[in-house]
Amino acid sequence: MRILPTSLAAASTHPSNFTPTPFARTNTSKSALMGWLVALGVLTAVMSPARAQAGSPAGFPVLVFHDVQPDEEIPAALTIIHLPMFKQQMRYLHDQGYQTLTLNELDEYLSGKKIITKKVVVLQFDDGLKSVADVLPVLTENNLKADFGIISDNVGGPAYLKWADIIKISDNPRYEVLSHSRTHACSSSGLYDGKRDQRSEKVESEIADSRQVISEKIGKSVKGLVWPCGNFNETAAKFAVRSGYTMLFLTDGKLNYVGKDHRDIHRTFVSGNCGMKEFIQTLSDGKFRDCPVPKAH
Ligand SMILES: [Zn+2]
Repeated sequence: MRILPTSLAAASTHPSNFTPTPFARTNTSKSALMGWLVALGVLTAVMSPARAQAGSPAGFPVLVFHDVQPDEEIPAALTIIHLPMFKQQMRYLHDQGYQTLTLNELDEYLSGKKIITKKVVVLQFDDGLKSVADVLPVLTENNLKADFGIISDNVGGPAYLKWADIIKISDNPRYEVLSHSRTHACSSSGLYDGKRDQRSEKVESEIADSRQVISEKIGKSVKGLVWPCGNFNETAAKFAVRSGYTMLFLTDGKLNYVGKDHRDIHRTFVSGNCGMKEFIQTLSDGKFRDCPVPKAH
């Protein structure tokens, strides 16, 4: 494992009020703007017409959560959802008969090897925060499966799960662990510029070392990578595939369809600022929604 550069060490702290950027490719400001617009649903109707045809499976979302907060004195935010609202959402999935998938099942479903007649949703929890401890009982209660994205250098930090917790999660057949990079360095730090220079080496370290460390700890090969802040470029994506990842996750607010490229799997943030109405809308159209004024849940 390489020595952590100072600039990345600084980025490795991950405050709970961290505001991720829900866009994908970041090599130009234009593409970033486009990504934002897509994430906000502005261009989705134009760029992503419904592809599901009669008789074919409907599109399904991969929903992303971060901090699930039991203390309602702490204001909800994009990445902080209050536990009662989260419970309501998970209960809704259960009551409406949604089928949740592990990464392996998602892999098979996207490849067309697994036929599912129920409505499908995939649940992912980014960053490996301690609040996962509050998430697990809710998932169990509602018979839901989920995946957990781990920032390998942050494991054991004040706000983060310990390796023992992550190993326990990974040992549960209903859950899977994936990489969310080493330090959660995003494009703003100068990474993902697509050049074979020192910065690219940092990107490679973020991608490959994280996979190696997590795989060694959990005793399983890590197949999934969640790009930090949803940011990546083609060079980074190619390197991720060479590093052994077979499933790469974006954060761009779109539905997925059977037959989709596994290196380009769409995900959608669930904002803690919103309520059930927006949650239900996102389940059906995969679009990212935020609500400017936190609602009393
Ligand atoms: Zn993250």
